[in-house]
Amino acid sequence: MAHSLVVHYSSTNSSRSPVFPASRRRHPPVPLRRLRRLPLLRLPLLPPRPTPPPTTPTADNRDSKMLKRFNVGDDCPVFEGLFEFCQASAGGSIGAAVKLNREDADIAINWAGGLHHAKKCEASGFCYVNDIVLGILELLKFHKRVLYVDIDVHHGDGVEEAFYTTDRVMTVSFHKFGDFFPGTGHVKDVGHGSGKYYALNVPLNDGMDDNSFQGLFRPVIQKVMEVYQPDAVVLQCGADSLAGDRLGCFNLSVKGHADCLRFLRSFNVPLMVLGGGGYTIRNVARCWCYETAVAVGVEPENKLPYNEYYEYFGPDYTLHVAPSPAENKNTAKDLEKMRTVLLEHLSKIQHVPSVQFQERPPNTEPPEEEDEDMDQKPKLWNGEYYDSEPEDRIS
Ligand SMILES: [Zn+2]
Repeated sequence: MAHSLVVHYSSTNSSRSPVFPASRRRHPPVPLRRLRRLPLLRLPLLPPRPTPPPTTPTADNRDSKMLKRFNVGDDCPVFEGLFEFCQASAGGSIGAAVKLNREDADIAINWAGGLHHAKKCEASGFCYVNDIVLGILELLKFHKRVLYVDIDVHHGDGVEEAFYTTDRVMTVSFHKFGDFFPGTGHVKDVGHGSGKYYALNVPLNDGMDDNSFQGLFRPVIQKVMEVYQPDAVVLQCGADSLAGDRLGCFNLSVKGHADCLRFLRSFNVPLMVLGGGGYTIRNVARCWCYETAVAVGVEPENKLPYNEYYEYFGPDYTLHVAPSPAENKNTAKDLEKMRTVLLEHLSKIQHVPSVQFQERPPNTEPPEEEDEDMDQKPKLWNGEYYDSEPEDRIS
C-alpha cells in the first residue's frame, strides 16, 4: 500500500529539491525513479524448491522441537512464502547498505525491513530475521561508527542485543515501557564492556504526542550526533507509534513521526530508512509514503491520488489524519527528568571511539540493475507468492 501511494504521488509530482546539499553530496542526486525502486529492492528468485517428502511422525517430532528452539509459533507463525519474505526483507536492508557503501545513494529506503525483535537464534514479535543487524554489519565494512535510531513503539531489543558490547554501533530506542512487549529497554540499560554508554533507552508512557516526542528526540539526537559523530545512520520508522495504531499507545501524527526523519536527514550523513511495526495499515501506508517524500525533499498534497487501495483511506482520502484526543500520560516533569538522565549518560562518552586497523570482509557486489520502464503501470503484490517477470529481476 505504501509503495502504491509513493508510485501514484510521484507520477503526479515532478519537482523536488536535492537530497543533500551539493557541498556534502559525493554524488549527483539520486534520480527519482531510482528512489522509486528502492522500497521494493527485488532479489533474484531461487529455483523452485523440490516438494518435501511426506512427513513421518519422527520428522514431525523433530520439526516441532526445532520450531520451539527457534521460537517459531504463536507470534511468529510459519506461513507460505516465509523464506521469500525474509529474503526480501533482509536482502533489502543489506542492499540498502551496499548502496550507501558504494555512495550510490545518500538515503536508501527499505520499507520491508526494520524487523528489530529478531535475535541471532530466535524469532520474536513478528520478526524472523533481523535485517537491521545484517544491514548494519554491511555498513560497518566501510563506516567506523553507525548510529541506530528506533522510533517504533516497541523497544528495539534485537538490535540493541546484537551491539550491546561494542562502541562501533550506538543504539537509541524510544519506546513504550512497562507491561508492554518485549519488556526490555529500561533507561538504566546503557550497554556493557566497551559498549557501555553506547546503548541509550528512552522508556515512555502512553499518549506521547508530537510536541512531547520532538522535545525529547531533537535534543537527545543532537547530542548523540555531537558526541558519537556517526559515519552512517539507520532509522527504524516503526509506524505503530502513530495515533490510532491497533497495538501501539502513542499519539503521534504522521508529520510528528516524520519529523524524526527530517531531523536526522538534516545532518547530511548517509542514511538508511527502514520500516518496522504498524498495525493500522492505512496509516502505515500514509506514514511511509510521507516519509519517502521527506527523504526525497518534496511536500506532497494532502489529497491522496487515486490508487488501487483508495477505498481504505475513506472517508477523507487524505494523507494526514488528526491525532486522537487521548491523554498524554508523560508529564512535562517526567519528560524533563528523562531528558536530563539521557544527557547525563551521553556526557559519559569522553571521546569519539576509533577503530583499530583490521582486515575488511570482502565487498558485496550488487547485481547489475536494468532500467525500469516507468511508463508501465506499477506491479503490486497481490497477496500471492511473488513471482516476478524475468525483466523485473536485477540479475
Ligand atoms: Zn512495534
